[in-house]
Order: sequence, then structure tokens, then C-alpha cells
Amino acid sequence: RAKQGGKNRYEFFSTDIEEQLIARHMLERHMREAIDQGQYLVYYQAKVDVDCAQVVGVEALVRWKNSADELVSPAKFIPVAEETGLIVPLGELVMRRACEDARRWHERGANIVISINVSAVQFEMANFVDKVSQILHQTGVRPDLVELEITEGVLARNHVQARDTLLRLKELGLGIAIDDFGTGYSSLAYLKRFPIDVLKIDQGFVRDMLTDPSDAAIITAIVHLAQNLGLELVAEGVEVQEQAAALRNKGCRIMQGYLYSKPAPFDEISELIFVA
Ligand code: C2E
Ligand code: MG
Ligand code: MG
Ligand code: MG
Repeated sequence: RAKQGGKNRYEFFSTDIEEQLIARHMLERHMREAIDQGQYLVYYQAKVDVDCAQVVGVEALVRWKNSADELVSPAKFIPVAEETGLIVPLGELVMRRACEDARRWHERGANIVISINVSAVQFEMANFVDKVSQILHQTGVRPDLVELEITEGVLARNHVQARDTLLRLKELGLGIAIDDFGTGYSSLAYLKRFPIDVLKIDQGFVRDMLTDPSDAAIITAIVHLAQNLGLELVAEGVEVQEQAAALRNKGCRIMQGYLYSKPAPFDEISELIFVA
């Protein structure tokens, strides 16, 4: 009897895995089709200089509006896109759209720096720098209005290649930001070795900074680090005025978060950019 119970359990388990595999295949197929169907949208979230109350930049954040008209969060599909390689055409699509939109804002008189998330899979493609160069030329955006966001993990994986890629990107004239700064495992020495322009303080530190002295202390340390190395700073995930005030006191001027703007389509963010 024990054996049979075991067998049943095994069968149940196997069906479960099968269902998961089928669901996963469906997701992959839908994600692939979504490119041709134009279901990927690029939203933008403002970065605000609190001293002059101006939008100085935006971050491009991809959204997937699926056939059921649901907006799927990137947390759900980016990891799958990375595993399947779909991130390469998807990332290219986002970059092209973002560069076009930055050019449109520039044409209307606003120097808005556009930040684009780049995943490790994209960054490590042999033709990545050529692709970026091609997109800059085809869209006609001013390269200094474009910034690429990478994570510490990208730098930790292959120092030599990463440094070479970053130097070539810098030659194109664009900026480099470290996203989710403070959460990675790499050494701080890379801040000296790699051509980096901006540190983005991870939103986890900002979220708890008012109640957890350790988070507040880490932010203080990151601000000092950035000031002493001559790097720009952006705080992510700023949701309440008290966080903004505390960050400003510590020396951080540029904020991104729901307090200022949720990620939104081009037209909506344009209204924020062109007020006053
Ligand atoms: P990220 O690059 O760190 O982007 C910041 C995330 O925090 C965004 O989530 C944004 O909507 C969210 N956020 C902004 N302000 C607040 C706030 O005040 N409170 C809270 N709780 N959250 C806030 P989103 O759009 O869901 O994107 C999640 C992640 O997916 C991004 O994290 C990024 O790693 C990745 N991602 C998004 N778009 C792309 C893309 O085009 N390419 C790649 N490779 N990754 C992307
Ligand atoms: Mg980012
Ligand atoms: Mg981040
Ligand atoms: Mg993140």
C-alpha cells in the first residue's frame, strides 16, 4: 500500500510539472508573438531634481499588454525573456522606442536624459555596442541624452570584457548608471576601474530608511561615495515626502518614485515635462 501511495504521489507530481511546462511554453510563445503584435509598450517614469522641481530625466520601463488587455509586469516576463534570449529583440525594441522618444522631447525643447535598462544577456552579446551605435544613428537622438542602466552583477561576471564594452559605449557618448546600487556582490573597486557616471540607490534602502538606522547609514555611505568619486546620484522608490526630505538632507538631489510620478505613457509624461 505504501508503494501505491508513493506511485500516486509520483504521478500527481509529474502531472503538476507537466502543467507547469505547458504553461511556461504558452507564456514563451505568447511573449514571442507579442513582438509582432506590438504588445510591448514603453512607459516612462520621471526623475526629478528637487532643487529646481524639474524633470531632468526619465527611465524607460517595458510593459506587456497581452491579448486579454492585461498589463503584465516586467518582474514576471523579463526573467523568462532573459532565459529564452527573447530579451535581445525585446531590449532592442525598447531601446529604439526610447531613443525615438528622447529625440521627440529634445525637438520640443526639453533635454530629457532617457535611462534604458540593459540586462546581462544583452550586454554580453558580441554585437551589443554595434547595435547601440546603430540605434543611436537611426533614431538621431543626441547620445548624451541616453543612459544605460546595468546592475553590479553585469560587472562582476567578466571584468575584462565588461570594462571593454563600457569603454566602447562611453566612446559613443552615452552615460552609464549602476542600477539597484548596494544590493550586488561585487567589490567597490569597480567604481574606480569602470567608466561609470551614475549610482542609483536601491529602492530597498529608501523604503526603510525612516525606520531602520542601518538603511539610513547605508544611504549616507553611498552619498559620500558618490560625492567623493564625482558620480551622479539618483534615489529610487521615493514614495513619501519624508523620504525625499531625508535624502535631500543627506545630499541627494535627484529622486525617482511614486511621490513624483508613476511609470506612464509618453503623452502623460510629456505633460509633466512641459509644465510651467
Ligand atoms: P528597475 O530598473 O530597478 O526599475 C524600478 C522599478 O521600481 C520599476 O518597476 C518601477 O515601476 C518601480 N518603482 C518606481 N517607483 C517606485 C516607488 O516609489 N515604489 C515602488 N514600490 N516601486 C517603484 P517595474 O517597472 O515593474 O520594473 C521592474 C524591473 O524590471 C526593473 O527594475 C528592471 O530591472 C526590469 N525592467 C523593466 N523594464 C525593462 C527593460 O526594458 N529591459 C530590461 N532588461 N529590464 C527591464
Ligand atoms: Mg532601472
Ligand atoms: Mg532599480
Ligand atoms: Mg530592480
